[in-house]
Amino acid sequence: MKYLSTRGHADRKQFCDILLEGLAPDGGLYLPETYPKITAAALTKLRKAYHEQGYAELAFQILSLYIDDIPAADLKAICAKTYTAEVFGTGEIVPLRHLEDGLWLEALSNGPTLAFKDMAMQLLGNLFEYELGRRGEQLNILGATSGDTGSAAEYAMRGKEGVRVFMTSPHGRMSAFQQAQMFSLQDENIHNIAIEGVFDDCQDIVKAVSNDHAFKAKYKIGTVNSINWARLLAQVVYYFAGYIQATESNSQKVSFTVPSGNFGNVCAGHVARMMGLPIAKLVVATNENDVLDEFFRTGVYRVRGSADTHETSSPSMDISKASNFERFIFDLLGRNGQRTKALFSAALQTYGRFDLSADPLFADAAKKYGFESGKSTHADRLATIKDTFERYGVTIDTHTADGVKVAREHHSDAKVPMIVLETALPIKFAETIVEALGHAPERPAKFAGIEDLPKRVHVMPADVEQVKAYIERHCAPAAQG
Ligand SMILES: *Cc1c(COP(=O)(O)O)cnc(C)c1O
Repeated sequence: MKYLSTRGHADRKQFCDILLEGLAPDGGLYLPETYPKITAAALTKLRKAYHEQGYAELAFQILSLYIDDIPAADLKAICAKTYTAEVFGTGEIVPLRHLEDGLWLEALSNGPTLAFKDMAMQLLGNLFEYELGRRGEQLNILGATSGDTGSAAEYAMRGKEGVRVFMTSPHGRMSAFQQAQMFSLQDENIHNIAIEGVFDDCQDIVKAVSNDHAFKAKYKIGTVNSINWARLLAQVVYYFAGYIQATESNSQKVSFTVPSGNFGNVCAGHVARMMGLPIAKLVVATNENDVLDEFFRTGVYRVRGSADTHETSSPSMDISKASNFERFIFDLLGRNGQRTKALFSAALQTYGRFDLSADPLFADAAKKYGFESGKSTHADRLATIKDTFERYGVTIDTHTADGVKVAREHHSDAKVPMIVLETALPIKFAETIVEALGHAPERPAKFAGIEDLPKRVHVMPADVEQVKAYIERHCAPAAQG
């Protein structure tokens, strides 16, 4: 399996090359040259693998279709080490829970940081350690977080050989729980840098450091952001696991509703569907930041400035442009790299928007790719959390509530189960739960009292040079040659 760029670059890469890279050299995102097709017989085999050998085996079999530069035995061991009941709380790893007629929740948030990002990041941590060890290299991950991504990355990389994490976050702006999750880590290779500024300042610093190519090469700076293909690939697995749990035979279909921000999660659903997994609809649920809903309704993709990006009570979906969206557009345009490039590097840069409303390819998007969309607001979120608690005794988090609200509007065929992806546990967003229910959500035992643990964090001004100096002091430069 070789990988290509969505912007038409001639290079073809192998999995382990793109594993440690971010964007393609032309600024595009990597995708496999073709999507491996799952026949009915193969799906039956996967079903059996999940039921008899578990999630790790399912992951191994799906990843094997895309990774041919890691020996099978090693990949199998990596999957077995990643997807354990110990790390993810249950043997099923992503259990389905029935909510109401034909509507299910797929639990993706029982990993170490209680959000679905653990599903991919835990695998990434083990893949990085493996590949860096094989190459005798080191990697220094520099990131910016407003909460979920940073903690997932830190918990995935803690104690890993060859990897250090430098994670910037806006000083004093994350929830007490999120700060405690990150700052209580005492591992030598994890560095929390609290920037006196807002999230955008953190992101600007990461960009500035990454654009200093000499520094980046000398200190082997890398990222783990959501455009990483390995993260997306890891997420494809739980669409299969959800399908297998909700159905008994391959003649059945299911639909998924996915709380979306950067389009990473639902893009994995798109890949699963392209492989032939019997998915009827992929419903994109957004919050007040409705860039994606607007596109699927109108064909116009209009990115927002930071002034038009709302701070909401489902903050992990507060995005102004969806960094993985280019992958879907590339497929929608018949994998035309030149056209994709024109839209994402020219039109978006110049006008901040592009318009496919008159294009027959867009008119076909729902039918051909199953995409639908909807939007949820703060009031919807509160009402959905309250209603779900009162009717079923189930407390859902704010992002999942956006999903449930939109799922109900799109669940049109009683014969097709609708699976809502649960993307976080409510304890991470306790304030809004209290607002909805009048009481705090349950806290998993392992997080009792984490706010009182000693904190390991370095506060500094929003100054690129100081961040660079900190990195220099804390890591050895890459070996010459
Ligand atoms: C990251 C995140 C999302 C959005 O996922 P994307 O892949 O960016 O679309 C939704 N909910 C939660 C809780 C998240 O952490």
